Amino acid sequence: MFSRLSDKLQDVFKDLRGHGRISEKNITDALRDVRMALLDADVHFQVAKDFIARVKDKAMGEEVLRSVTPGQQIVKIFHDELTTLLGGDAAPLNLTKPARILVVGLNGAGKTTSSAKLARLLKSQGRAPQLIACDLHRPAAIAQLATLAEQVGVPVYQPQAGETDVLKVGREAVAWCDQTPGDVQIYDTAGRQDLDEPLIEELRRLKEFLQPQEILIVCDAATGQQAVNVAEKFHAALGLTGIILTKLDGDARGGAALSLREVTKQPIKFAGVGEKIEQFEQFYPDRLAGRILGMGDVVSLVEKAAEVINEDDARRMEEKLRKASFDLEDFLQQFRMLKRMGPLQNVLGMLPGMANLKGSSIDEGQLKRVEAIILSMTPQERTRPDILNARRRQRVARGSGTTVTEVNNLILRFTQMRKMMKNMGQMKKLMAQARKGGM
Ligand code: GDP
Repeated sequence: MFSRLSDKLQDVFKDLRGHGRISEKNITDALRDVRMALLDADVHFQVAKDFIARVKDKAMGEEVLRSVTPGQQIVKIFHDELTTLLGGDAAPLNLTKPARILVVGLNGAGKTTSSAKLARLLKSQGRAPQLIACDLHRPAAIAQLATLAEQVGVPVYQPQAGETDVLKVGREAVAWCDQTPGDVQIYDTAGRQDLDEPLIEELRRLKEFLQPQEILIVCDAATGQQAVNVAEKFHAALGLTGIILTKLDGDARGGAALSLREVTKQPIKFAGVGEKIEQFEQFYPDRLAGRILGMGDVVSLVEKAAEVINEDDARRMEEKLRKASFDLEDFLQQFRMLKRMGPLQNVLGMLPGMANLKGSSIDEGQLKRVEAIILSMTPQERTRPDILNARRRQRVARGSGTTVTEVNNLILRFTQMRKMMKNMGQMKKLMAQARKGGM
């Protein structure tokens, strides 16, 4: 799920990151593309519109436009807004005793499966769930729940075959629960192809009698806008307390997930991510937002960078790079800035696509030796590496516990880098002149 939306958003961000400076026009263009991508993913149009307006409001701020990493900052804004759209913080269940959870939804959404999955999850958290089959319209549902309950290892209440009075079943189930060890009752209710009045009436009566703390609607993410409409109607009729979003593992476009919370104002509490009983998890808005944006853990990276990198320092460094007055002392400074962000392995691991680099090609030991070599130079040698003759190089190698070859290599790489920067600086100047119409 989300792969198309995710691909498109990443294209937009790649484009934004490509700009050293970002203008209001860059942002407006990017937001237009994002809006199209959202609509294409079947996100409710009003939700998409409001979302874009909120991002725009934040992205246009002076701080973002003038920062050294505007592209990154905008990605972070997207992430934060997307997290808010998906509900902000994870929403726990209200399980005050006797905890009763009514699971409702249309046929095929995944009610029975999710009831059992929820029981398994709660059991793994040390609760003692009880499953109650209340779907009297689909006899197979009762047997299905019983099989799943056995698989999960929790007690299940099965009404008499042919029973049609849901209140009677409710009363008997509550009596059964009192006799059976357990502290959370999960009621799997009847569904329909479409929501109709008799079903609403039946669920209302059950709600009235049970007074559940939680009424969770099960929505099939693959049904897109329809899931949103259904949830809205159920909410109006019953007053939901949360959503279980199933089939997030499918290849639907993802619009339902993005619109459900905003339209119903109810939190998505759990997500079904596969057919297996354990493929069910607490729903974390920020994690899904990260996945949609295909960000690895760029958000933590940006936050970390903001903690350790001083914007003024970064700007000075950039200036030096441009003027090619960058020396070994600056090299060392940059190095330390990077080091303050934690082990390089971790930093690289946070970048999308870089996770698989972990543990292979980065040699922390080598980086430490580079630092030792520069530290063994005198301040004068750091600013003017050209004075490093053979005798000085030997001294540096001895002082840093490395070899002359390593010292030579470092100086060679640094000189090449500086030359390249100088050329780039000249090219930029020429291009700037060309743009001004001078050529
Ligand atoms: P109900 O009619 O609402 O009770 O729906 P069921 O619980 O019988 O589920 C309908 C179908 O959806 C079953 O084949 C389930 O295995 C499947 N299903 C439920 N949740 C998920 C999920 O998260 N991912 C996938 N891939 N399939 C699911």
